[in-house]
Amino acid sequence: MQSGHTRKRLNHTASAKLKTIHILQTMKQFLSYLLILCTLSVHPLIANQSINQIRSELRDLRQQRGAIDRKIHEAQAKIRIIEKEDDLIDAINSLKVHTPHKKRTVLVYSRTQGFRHQSIPFGVHALTEMGKRTGAFNVVASEDPAVFNSPSFMNYDGVIMLNTTGNDVIPQGRARENFERFLMNGKGLIGIHAATDCHRNWSNYLEAMGGLFDGHPWGANHTVSLYNEEPNHPICNHIQTGDRIRDEIYQYREDSYFTRDKLRILLSLDLNGKNMKAKGMKRKDHDYAVSWIRKYGNSRVFYSNLGHNNETYHNPMALQHFLNGIQYALGDLSADDRSSASVGNGSARALPAGF
Ligand SMILES: [Zn+2]
Repeated sequence: MQSGHTRKRLNHTASAKLKTIHILQTMKQFLSYLLILCTLSVHPLIANQSINQIRSELRDLRQQRGAIDRKIHEAQAKIRIIEKEDDLIDAINSLKVHTPHKKRTVLVYSRTQGFRHQSIPFGVHALTEMGKRTGAFNVVASEDPAVFNSPSFMNYDGVIMLNTTGNDVIPQGRARENFERFLMNGKGLIGIHAATDCHRNWSNYLEAMGGLFDGHPWGANHTVSLYNEEPNHPICNHIQTGDRIRDEIYQYREDSYFTRDKLRILLSLDLNGKNMKAKGMKRKDHDYAVSWIRKYGNSRVFYSNLGHNNETYHNPMALQHFLNGIQYALGDLSADDRSSASVGNGSARALPAGF
């Protein structure tokens, strides 16, 4: 039998054990709270920044990457331009040029706010060299919208919109007013490729340019056949129906800007050519124009869809077409610019049988 003393000692030991267990449980709970607290504070402790600060840092880094990417592309373009300089000079030497009535200066404007075509430096270089070597015009190239606010803007003979993308390439307000005034003054407006993929919110621009981009069923690697709508027209009489070129071709939105009642269509796609059927063709009238001219205000407008690919800018056929169109717009090449409809060419050809 246990003595009273022994029982007391046993009770004491049991209660001490219970106390220890209690302390251990409390400590365990405390440690798990501490762990939770630590987990909660890991994010600010690691970064020492709020999530918004990190997001803004990420934005800055992406912008820096964008600027570096652009510099890399520009450096690559310079190398390619130098490598292809002989081809460009050969092409320019083959061009037929009309003697300008006076010294001409054109603004080549290539600001982008949407997609940026990598061919822009090729275009600026080719137009500059073409103008210089043929004596047809002098080029001033800019991507600064302030150029439209300068008093000297009105002295240009023409503006070439070279692959301009986005809705505010020429900003709303004074710049657009000056541009519209410029066109009322009997000047030249030339659009190359993406010049129809900007200013969706500016109806006077769309009216002047004559069309709005509505997808490109024929991508940059597509070799298309051209149909010469006007074989005797001085802007395209060097091109034969069936001539082929590898370039990206747009279709234009069905609207009141793109209509043969206003435009003189010069080139369109030759749907009888090889591999011409493309996904995304949606015009009900099958009117897939490639270049045109029109009068707008007192000015002359030339637009060409060609000009997505770098190679287009040393292709003799394309350069002759650009030069003719530019000289027409500048007033140095007289050309019939009545609308297609008014000269009996009011609709596109029917689709080839079985197309
Ligand atoms: Zn393009």
